[in-house]
Amino acid sequence: MPKLTFRGGVHPKDQKEPTRYKSIRELEVPEVLVFPLSQHIGAPAKPLVKKGDRVLKGMKIADNEAYVSAPVHSSVSGEVIAVEPRPVPSGQEVMSIVVKNDFAEEYDPNVQPLDYTSLSPDDIPAVVREAGVVGMGGATFPTHVKLSPPPGKTIDTVIVNGAECEPYLTSDHRVMLETPDEVILGLKIILYRFGIDNGHIAIEDNKPDAIDLLSGLCAKEKGLKVDVLKKKYPQGGEKQLIYAVTRRKVPLGGLPADVGVVVVNVDTCTAIARRFMYGTPLTRRIVTVAGGCIADPCNYRVRIGTPVDFILEKAGGFTEEPKKIVMGGPMMGPPQFRLDVPIIKGTSAILCLTEKEAEVPEEGPCLRCGKCVDHCPMNLMPLYLADFARRGDIDSCEKYKITACIECGCCSYTCPAKRQLVQSIRVGKQETMAQIKKRQEAAKA
Ligand code: SF4
Ligand code: SF4
Repeated sequence: MPKLTFRGGVHPKDQKEPTRYKSIRELEVPEVLVFPLSQHIGAPAKPLVKKGDRVLKGMKIADNEAYVSAPVHSSVSGEVIAVEPRPVPSGQEVMSIVVKNDFAEEYDPNVQPLDYTSLSPDDIPAVVREAGVVGMGGATFPTHVKLSPPPGKTIDTVIVNGAECEPYLTSDHRVMLETPDEVILGLKIILYRFGIDNGHIAIEDNKPDAIDLLSGLCAKEKGLKVDVLKKKYPQGGEKQLIYAVTRRKVPLGGLPADVGVVVVNVDTCTAIARRFMYGTPLTRRIVTVAGGCIADPCNYRVRIGTPVDFILEKAGGFTEEPKKIVMGGPMMGPPQFRLDVPIIKGTSAILCLTEKEAEVPEEGPCLRCGKCVDHCPMNLMPLYLADFARRGDIDSCEKYKITACIECGCCSYTCPAKRQLVQSIRVGKQETMAQIKKRQEAAKA
């Protein structure tokens, strides 16, 4: 089978050995869970319950009528003990519903399986929305919006993103091995929604067992296939994945739908399947708990709302005090400064890194070697963008397309002078986006 890839990128050590061969473990459920009302891109949900209310497992507890939003569901039965701002992994405080678990595990009567073939394809997005499904690879974009492309856009290809290219992460790998039927069913439901039979499951070549298993299952289905990707970071980036599989280029500022493609993460696919198979909304996810400080690294099935400190305790604690804790992959995940934050829908991993793993080398002067340019998967010029950003030259940032940066960190990773390029570019990108927005608003006025 030919191995597909994209231009640029880097090859960090994958660090997946400690968890890739271990089965997913069920994590105990805590006594108190926290459900932030903004776990997705778009309008925050508004509470549908108040302090003192009883909630059931799978019950919708918050929603918003806005189109780009997603409801939030309780992952346990119990009592609402607070509706108040609580810290979340992004570092902000977000309005949250706090539930005391009664351990009765009493399901909401609305949690009922549904045969997707009994629905019209156009009804699928509403069911997916009602189940609170968002992109679980970290992007947290509401999935029903992806399943409802704008008028004039025709989808002819669906790609399940099984690349999992960030070091340490193995949750998608384990999901593909342990619940492949859910992955296949989720993909079939999405294909049914679009009335097409062109479904791909794209997997990096460092997961040969998942490639073999899913290839065998896809061979029994019409229009499904596995694509083998070269192991390279950021192979799981949406634009890089689409190019590798279809050779189509998503235009700058455009969406996958502009080139006829929808991409969904592996666990998002299983969340869609589980909504139809069992009636369950998105109330749990698989989380990789790893890094050199973790006593017993593994993947855990965790209820959304579970505090990180509870997970770390149940996972056996630390062998040494971590230098840095990251939620998600080490290349793009946000660092954490407190452990009382909850697992949210987009949390793929908790990494507790040793001093050596988290080392930030001292910056040297730019050598003008061009490596950052060669490895940038978006064909940008990171050395100049970082320089413009540091000098506050936002016009040049805009001119040289800083907003196309996907913040993958390949430039910093590959730089021999250890220049903190992505850190500067991230700030410059935010300022450039603010400048563009201000100009657009002034033009409207
Ligand atoms: S400039 Fe942006 S897209 Fe390019 S390598 Fe750096 S972080 Fe990645
Ligand atoms: S890789 Fe580093 S040293 Fe080389 S051109 Fe880019 S910023 Fe300069």
